[in-house]
Amino acid sequence: MNYLNTLFFQRCMTCKHKQMQPITSPLCVTCQKNLPWLNPNHCTQCATPLLDPKTKLCGNCIASPPHFDQTIALFSYEHPINLLIHDFKFCNRWRLATILGKWMHETLVSQWHTLKNPPSHLIAAPMHNDKLKKRGYNQALLLAKSMAKASGSLDVLLPCKKLSNNPPQSSLNRRQRKKASPHIIVIHPKQVKNKNLLLIDDVITTGSTLNSLAKSLKSAGANSVSVCCLSRTCHSK
Ligand SMILES: [Zn+2]
Ligand SMILES: [Zn+2]
Repeated sequence: MNYLNTLFFQRCMTCKHKQMQPITSPLCVTCQKNLPWLNPNHCTQCATPLLDPKTKLCGNCIASPPHFDQTIALFSYEHPINLLIHDFKFCNRWRLATILGKWMHETLVSQWHTLKNPPSHLIAAPMHNDKLKKRGYNQALLLAKSMAKASGSLDVLLPCKKLSNNPPQSSLNRRQRKKASPHIIVIHPKQVKNKNLLLIDDVITTGSTLNSLAKSLKSAGANSVSVCCLSRTCHSK
């Protein structure tokens, strides 16, 4: 039994069937095949699904372009990805970062040719210290480290410190999100100056948190900021 075999569970996380193959994924082959991969027809800038295959940008990005240049998202935030992310974040199943980061890296490689500014460095969405103490780990940083390891060439930077401890966007409805105070993030400019950055997070909802982070990174001198998220919510609350 190799190292990966020890990482996951005897039973598929979704259908609960006992896995007969060596366990390198938390899901059985069938469930993995049926994952809710994001429809390829989505906004290149924010990954919102689009109805018209001829369009490249959604109405929001045309009317008010976000500060990040591009978004790569793997999955629609629905079953069983929501379950997987919930367990990864809240049930101490941090080892899932290995397979989730590997999937994110594979998707990044497959879309590398579409990136206007291919990234040289990864930055995880920062977590406030209070939350970090409570959870014990920043899931976005684990994903970034896993992606970096899979790539063998990308580096993870830690230039950001989050000073505000706002509730996550995904827990708020549309009205609450509009009223929420902005995240306060401190950046060390020396680390990001002239670099092409890829922001890593687990879920993109409105994109406002990543947008304010991208704005701060560009103000600090970053050459470009793109986003890579494990999943995207496709229906607003
Ligand atoms: Zn299954
Ligand atoms: Zn968009």
